[in-house]
Amino acid sequence: MPKILDGKKLAQEIELTLQQTIESGLEVAERPPGLAVLRVGNDPASGVYVNYKEKACDRIGVRSFAKHLKEDISLEELRETIKTLNQEKNVDGILLQLPLPSHLDEATLLRSIDPDKDADGLHPLNLGRLIKGEKGPRSCTPAGVMSLLKRNQIKIEGKRAVVIGRSILVGKPMALMLEAANATVTVAHSRTTDLPSLTREADLLVVAAGKPYLIGKNHVSENCVVIDVGIHRLPTGQENMNELKKTKLCGDVKMFEIEDKVAAYSPVPGGVGPMTVTMLLANTVDRWQKHCGLPLTISHLLP
Ligand code: NAD
Repeated sequence: MPKILDGKKLAQEIELTLQQTIESGLEVAERPPGLAVLRVGNDPASGVYVNYKEKACDRIGVRSFAKHLKEDISLEELRETIKTLNQEKNVDGILLQLPLPSHLDEATLLRSIDPDKDADGLHPLNLGRLIKGEKGPRSCTPAGVMSLLKRNQIKIEGKRAVVIGRSILVGKPMALMLEAANATVTVAHSRTTDLPSLTREADLLVVAAGKPYLIGKNHVSENCVVIDVGIHRLPTGQENMNELKKTKLCGDVKMFEIEDKVAAYSPVPGGVGPMTVTMLLANTVDRWQKHCGLPLTISHLLP
């Protein structure tokens, strides 16, 4: 039977550690950690993710400075908002929820976040640190994947890893983190030809293509470890498609086709998703310890 890489359970364990870390540092720090998640406009999926993040902050004692900004906010106004949060001493982490409305330049805005408060590790300085193997905040989703692999004692060193997807948010930092852990990494993308023969060579396959059910039994070999990053809401039938509750979640992988073939896999939901939120909290608590001059006790939770 394949091993199920249970992100929900691991996320709960890490949250407990973070909660205890906050409690034990509060007296010296004289304030809780603070996280500002910025949501722009009314993308419903972003609304759901921001909501998860706010609830997670509440659960462990992180103060939320979440802001919901209007769809037509100008680049300058949004930069000013970020600048104010950069200077706010109670804020340790800032996350700009992507995607943004099309009139806003993502790169400019990510660059305007203080690299020291960059809770999703997407500032060019922190991406550069990742390339060089230097310490710094890491992108939450790939960091969550690394944590899930480590906790389940999945060996990475010397393994052939294939990452499907080359986005700045997931695929690229994922490939760099696996390479830093001594895997031999190949990155596949939308122009890759003959994907199945490439992925069948993989000991470890990370799928972040954003295409529901892209990967099936012809793409994997036996004993492969499969991480499904994709998350999609598919309509369940007759219901109103505008209502998110009447949809079901699926990933980029047809798990029902491969679950008897592979060595281990991460489910959707309950795999990478909860780990992403938890790594956001871990980055924030780590920044808080740094900003408040506390000992850095949770570095081992971060890649
Ligand atoms: P993206 O659209 O920015 O990038 C997708 C990448 O996949 C691109 O590099 C593209 O070249 C590649 N790709 C697309 N079709 C392909 C194909 N047929 N074959 C090979 N490569 C292909 O998406 P993203 O932001 O990287 O996110 C990817 C997926 O992960 C999405 O489903 C997203 O919702 C999900 N996601 C999940 C979490 C989580 O917490 N679980 C977090 C972030 C993103």
